[in-house]
Amino acid sequence: MEGTEERVFEALEPRLEGHIIKQADPAFDDVRRVWNTRIDRIPSIIVQPVSISDVIQVVEFASEFGYRISVKGGGHHVGGPAVVDDAVMIDLARFDAISVDPTALTVTVGGGVTWGQVDAATAPHGLAAVGGQDPNIGVAGLTLGGGVGWLSRAFGLAVDNLLEVELVTAAGEHISASPTEQEELFWGLRGAGGGLGIVTSFTFKVHPVETVLAGSLVYPLQEAHQAMRGYRTLVDDGPDTLRPLFGIFDLPPTSPLFDQVESSRVAIIIVCAIEPFGGSERVLESLRHETSPVVDSITTRPYVTFNAAGESEPFARTTLRSRYLETLDDQAIETIVGIGTTAPAAGATVFVSPRGGAEVEPPMEAMAYAHREPGHHVLIEARWEDTTADDAHESWVAESAAKLAPMASRVGSINFVDADEPPTHAWFGPNRDRLNRLKQKWDPDDRFGGHAHPRWQE
Ligand SMILES: Cc1cc2nc3c(=O)[nH]c(=O)nc-3n(C[C@H](O)[C@H](O)[C@H](O)COP(=O)(O)OP(=O)(O)OC[C@H]3O[C@@H](n4cnc5c(N)ncnc54)[C@H](O)[C@@H]3O)c2cc1C
Repeated sequence: MEGTEERVFEALEPRLEGHIIKQADPAFDDVRRVWNTRIDRIPSIIVQPVSISDVIQVVEFASEFGYRISVKGGGHHVGGPAVVDDAVMIDLARFDAISVDPTALTVTVGGGVTWGQVDAATAPHGLAAVGGQDPNIGVAGLTLGGGVGWLSRAFGLAVDNLLEVELVTAAGEHISASPTEQEELFWGLRGAGGGLGIVTSFTFKVHPVETVLAGSLVYPLQEAHQAMRGYRTLVDDGPDTLRPLFGIFDLPPTSPLFDQVESSRVAIIIVCAIEPFGGSERVLESLRHETSPVVDSITTRPYVTFNAAGESEPFARTTLRSRYLETLDDQAIETIVGIGTTAPAAGATVFVSPRGGAEVEPPMEAMAYAHREPGHHVLIEARWEDTTADDAHESWVAESAAKLAPMASRVGSINFVDADEPPTHAWFGPNRDRLNRLKQKWDPDDRFGGHAHPRWQE
């Protein structure tokens, strides 16, 4: 940090109740780090606000001295837009309040809360919000970009359950947005993926969900085609209260299942059904008769425990491609199994999940989030640690996405966009121009720009 810049930041410090973390501070590298460790950007300074007034001070300061602002919620976006070189990074970790209203069936959470914290707060009331499948993901980023989870087929996306937000705008105002206040801004916040303001709190509708019928069926790799056809049948014949997921991945080295499978690479169907279980039990029973899983762990269990089991390692080098398929025909199954079988290393996976039920009910123009076609989401992802293995993983992901391209209808949502992906209109479809008009109105100087959001304008 140069001397002048240092003096500028010293002027900000007394205006805040929260903390400033300078480049020389021991905590700087830890806080600027995001989940994807391939992202290595250096902000000019990090601020950890503890109050709305702090957030306003930072916005005014950034505007006065011409800094961009990046916002870190849970830091899990693979493209790393939470951290931008030479910007002021706002880490919202201290915005961690959660308040459940079991009568109104709502939960209000601060802008730095994670989904695991939400689940832990709602579960004692027998309630659950639609949230991510890994407890460490931020509520903020996931929701602003759409947000799909185990409950989405029954209750829609996280963004469909959003009732109100409070935010600080680029002009330094603290306002609310909801279906009755700043309706147009609320339309844009629901799907833009950030970039319109700093959201300090979110209020969601929650649902009575306590016990789920959930778990996994594991198959040897040579039975992957059959397992995937089984997944398709669950989607086609099962009720919207059942959400299955298909994947090809590696068992951990200590897995007891090595007695029952020849290779560590296996196919898996994971399911989560909410009550009433009748329709789900029927289709699962047929699947058990038609296939031969080596493991069947599907049983009734608390939703909160099941969702927490999706926890990943805290950090990883990652690259991914997210694509949508309208139909999962036999050719698509052949291609996806082929992709899963040719993975270069244990952390290279392919997962397929349905897009249906409440998730695709709202019209495409109902909010900025524009992916409402029924079908399937395919996520080709590689995670690794060894920095010399970047090329092998990148090539596999890129080649796999190319194999899938002839049958893919669209690229995935803004929540699953890698840093190196070329911009495309498909992220926002028919909503892009309306979103650009909002950006012009609410952030004309692109204060909240960075690595992902300026692409709206192309
Ligand atoms: C291991 C893993 C599992 C995942 N599982 C799921 C899943 O089950 N379902 C799903 O839908 N997605 C999933 N994702 C994708 C996830 O939704 C996105 O990565 C999402 O952006 C993460 O949100 P975050 O707050 O953690 O990220 P961040 O990187 O902190 O933020 C993402 C974007 O939102 C902006 N932002 C963050 N907080 C705020 C705020 N308060 N106000 C304004 N802008 C803000 C940031 O500036 C950035 O542009 C997963 C990702 C990973 C790495």
